[in-house]
Amino acid sequence: MMDTQSRYEVVIGLEVHCQLNTRTKIFCSCSTEFGKEPNENTCPICLGMPGVLPVLNKVALEYAIKASLATHCEVQALNRFARKNYFYPDLPKGYQISQFELPLARHGYIKIRANGEQKTINLTRIHMEEDAGKSIHGENLGHPDKSYVDFNRTGVPLVEIVSEPEMRSSEEARQYLMELKSILEYSEVSDCNMEEGSFRCDANVSLRPFGQKEFGTRTELKNLNSFKFVQKAIDYEVERQAQLLDQGDSVTQETRLYDSNKNITYSMRSKEEAHDYRYFPEPDLVPVVIDSEWIEKVRQSLPELPEQKRERFLKDFGLPEFDAEVLTASRPLANYFEQCTGLFDKPKIISNWVMGELLKELNNENRSIEDSPISPEMLTDMLKLIDKGTINGKIAKSVLEEMYQTGKPAEAIVKEKGLTQITDDSAIEKIIDEVLANNPNQLNDFKNGKEKLFGFFVGQVMKASKGQANPAQVNQMLKEKLNAS
Ligand code: ADP
Ligand code: MG
Ligand code: ZN
Repeated sequence: MMDTQSRYEVVIGLEVHCQLNTRTKIFCSCSTEFGKEPNENTCPICLGMPGVLPVLNKVALEYAIKASLATHCEVQALNRFARKNYFYPDLPKGYQISQFELPLARHGYIKIRANGEQKTINLTRIHMEEDAGKSIHGENLGHPDKSYVDFNRTGVPLVEIVSEPEMRSSEEARQYLMELKSILEYSEVSDCNMEEGSFRCDANVSLRPFGQKEFGTRTELKNLNSFKFVQKAIDYEVERQAQLLDQGDSVTQETRLYDSNKNITYSMRSKEEAHDYRYFPEPDLVPVVIDSEWIEKVRQSLPELPEQKRERFLKDFGLPEFDAEVLTASRPLANYFEQCTGLFDKPKIISNWVMGELLKELNNENRSIEDSPISPEMLTDMLKLIDKGTINGKIAKSVLEEMYQTGKPAEAIVKEKGLTQITDDSAIEKIIDEVLANNPNQLNDFKNGKEKLFGFFVGQVMKASKGQANPAQVNQMLKEKLNAS
């Protein structure tokens, strides 16, 4: 059977909720700090007591404008908040203050790379809203007969970023999310911490036969709190819908949840059960008019964004595209790299070591570059030792490991362990002679035409020198010896 991706075209639109990292909530002055005791960050306003009035947090609005500009959206001069009515235990007012008819921003776009090609994904809109609280089921707390609710998150400012249905594979969806997350992190409007729920995604998925213009019926997948789960849930959903369509059945428009343990999606509520939110303008908040001067001021405050940085890295440092992409994925990593280039003038060599050995060590421990025990100075000091010929590249890898573990500078490690490269011809020659004497059979085979054994001899010499011989010299001198003998 043909695989799904060639029978049906996959159509994906994403809705991302991103928590703005203001100090206080969107309509009251409660702290937004994560991890406090349940209900510690609450007041009559965010608890929805009668008679209280919300006041819009100006910094939240500024961050939302910043997020909109960073994604190339047009910020709308006239904004209005709206009530989205639904009943849920974690929503004390019985409605959520959101935006509906007049959202903050429209018509943005994000550039992604998928399958080696660039593609633009358009954004429909960005709007502001308050977050809801959190229900906690008692069985997790040893009280299976009880339910608890924590309102600390209630009223935390969010932006919802809605894409057009323009992604065509789960991989494109993943690329879109990574790029969006990177843009929001660069702009410093959010920490985008997925584990703490600061960056969450709902995926809308449908299929249509190739060539068909109309979209198929979509399902909406909720609860996707990692890139991996987004991709897996979409892949599962594509297969599920394809099987339905193959059998001549139709897809039901519904909201589905992803179960990461079983790697399946299952129905949460159908369209018939879907809420009628009875949106209406929020009477407690005046319409917000944003003047163009302020928008320009916020635009000026935007830092260099990932896309621009990537292009500059290509141009200024002559890096390959892959390197530029990896190094600009996060702003601290890009900063680290750039600091190194100020200390040592060989960007590609720095890039190799940062992307290779350093990131490997950091990823092993799930550490971020900001906590790297190896500073840009330490790394470039080591690279200078390679450059000067004091150590070779192979030894340098073990030096880097040691630097990472102990925080000692490269030079001290090299001295302490006697790792200085052997460049003395007579010393290398002595090792070569020993190796040849110890391997008469291989030497014989080599002389009888088994030239592949050259690599074997190089390996043996390097091993005998504990990795410290200069590899270029070893190659050169071995060649001469073997040809002469
Ligand atoms: P809702 O408020 O019901 O979620 P929206 O109009 O806001 O509806 O759309 C939500 C998301 O669904 C958007 O990201 C949009 O691109 C996406 N979408 C709409 N139709 C489809 C479809 N047929 N297939 C996939 N995604 C779709
Ligand atoms: Mg939706
Ligand atoms: Zn409050």
